[in-house]
Amino acid sequence: MLYQYSNTAKQGRSGPKIIAKLWDLLKQNEIGYRKPRRSTVRGSFLDGRATFDLQVNPSYIDGLPDGNRLAAVSLLMVHEGVHASLGISDDIMDELQARKQSVLYYRELSGSGVFNEFNDPPRPGRRGGIVKLPAGSFSTLKEQNEYLNREQLVDFLFGIKSYRNKFLKPKWIIDHLGLWGGIGNRRPETKGRFIKRLAPTYDPYFAAAIVDIMMSVNSRADWDKMMAKAGSLNTIQLALDSLVGNRARGLQILELQRKWGVALTEQIPMR
Ligand SMILES: [Zn+2]
Repeated sequence: MLYQYSNTAKQGRSGPKIIAKLWDLLKQNEIGYRKPRRSTVRGSFLDGRATFDLQVNPSYIDGLPDGNRLAAVSLLMVHEGVHASLGISDDIMDELQARKQSVLYYRELSGSGVFNEFNDPPRPGRRGGIVKLPAGSFSTLKEQNEYLNREQLVDFLFGIKSYRNKFLKPKWIIDHLGLWGGIGNRRPETKGRFIKRLAPTYDPYFAAAIVDIMMSVNSRADWDKMMAKAGSLNTIQLALDSLVGNRARGLQILELQRKWGVALTEQIPMR
């Protein structure tokens, strides 16, 4: 197992757990190639299903250049291995961990490379050696690496509709506003997507978070990108109306209105 010999696996606490889980699955013959129902799926893990629990899409691997295949299989096994070692909890945090681990592993594979101890699979006429990805391979991992460098992997994930639909909930947003560099480090599009989920609650608690998110914007370009994803302005106005009577919030709303030249309430929250 290539990952086992990587430095990535040796750093942090998750590596040994992932390796143990993958060996476990291998021994039980629960890792294998299988065509997924949706052809875009590259790999998946589902505990206890009739076929392999951990599956790799053979057409995805076949479509890659020869020299990238082993690394691709290994990267997928690590991603799904994280899911397997965490168990099913149906949270975006699992996906973040799986992505983070595979991005870190990708960094090593496309940087110094990883020593292939067993020369596995054996390649006739070739000695075992370093598995190293050519620069620029796996463009989505390269992109995620850049997001991770800025602590914005969560923004990358919420750029994907299926994850938004499944995981982006008002309470989740509030609970995680301070993470990954705080609200100031979210992409403007993510801020807009947060507002779009918070506004229809018409709840002052969530409306206050909308104001905090808006206050974190520093440029016209970012404001426009945020508002383009924030849903109906009228819904936002109705949500912010719930803050009527809150002097501190009222002042912030007035400041935002002046700064960005936009009506954020239907009524003047204070005078
Ligand atoms: Zn995943």
